[in-house]
Amino acid sequence: MIEYEGRVFRPPSEAYSLIVQVTIGCSHNKCTFCDMYKEKQFRVRPLEAVKRDFDEARRMYRRVERIFLADGDALMCRAEHMAEILRYIKKRFPECERVTSYGSPKSVLVKTQAELDELHALGLDMIYLGLESGSDTVLARINKGETADEIVRAGLMVKAAGMKLSVTCIAGLGSTELSEEHAVKTAEALSRMKPEYIGLLTLLFELPTPLMRDWQEGRFYLMNPIEIAQETLVLLEHIDCEGSVFRANHASNYVNLAGTLNADREAMCEKLRAALEGKVRFKSEAFRAR
Ligand code: SF4
Repeated sequence: MIEYEGRVFRPPSEAYSLIVQVTIGCSHNKCTFCDMYKEKQFRVRPLEAVKRDFDEARRMYRRVERIFLADGDALMCRAEHMAEILRYIKKRFPECERVTSYGSPKSVLVKTQAELDELHALGLDMIYLGLESGSDTVLARINKGETADEIVRAGLMVKAAGMKLSVTCIAGLGSTELSEEHAVKTAEALSRMKPEYIGLLTLLFELPTPLMRDWQEGRFYLMNPIEIAQETLVLLEHIDCEGSVFRANHASNYVNLAGTLNADREAMCEKLRAALEGKVRFKSEAFRAR
């Protein structure tokens, strides 16, 4: 059996990937909206335990084409630790076509460009990076731990290493008073990084978090579908990410959007305008999920 500690999260695009935990939890674990790893104490798993899981997977699966390295920021382990894991993957799964991982901004920034270059050469193909917002005010409020500039720098280092970059942002994170700033600055940060993939989620509360408590106690206003559509429209109107695949078709989104920027931007804006005019239905709360 492959060992999984606690709930294991993965991006939607890793639904068919072999998932192995390189780390347990998230080294930051302090974002006020995030409930993913709250029950876990962050640590890097010993190499032998990770290799044991890969050996077990080799016995279980004849063909493994995609591998996702979990948890929250697997890239936080030392570069040599990750390099050894990537070498082992190459040895045990020569058929594997893609290895990806979550990477917190800090996990990228603590590495040198040469280390990231080497990790890419050893087979690390893509990093999922959480921008959440391009507004420093919003980032400080949610306790992200980095500024927008630092996150952009991390994203550009990933790209300079030759890896693909997938960036996530969250609509509604600045509530109404910071909505405009959140949308415009997020568009600016994304435009500077021009990631291969952009995922826009919508803020949703399921399990207790500090931000959820603020909402329950009246200190945070959770934006409604109309306000979220208006904010997303502002973001799309300000974005310049030629070639980026843009997706807001996650279970948390009220209006599903998908397209390639900048070509499909106007069509996505049109869909949002139609939703605001009542011609496209917003997803009901009952069907939303994280
Ligand atoms: S860095 Fe990511 S996984 Fe860690 S607490 Fe923040 S949002 Fe959650």
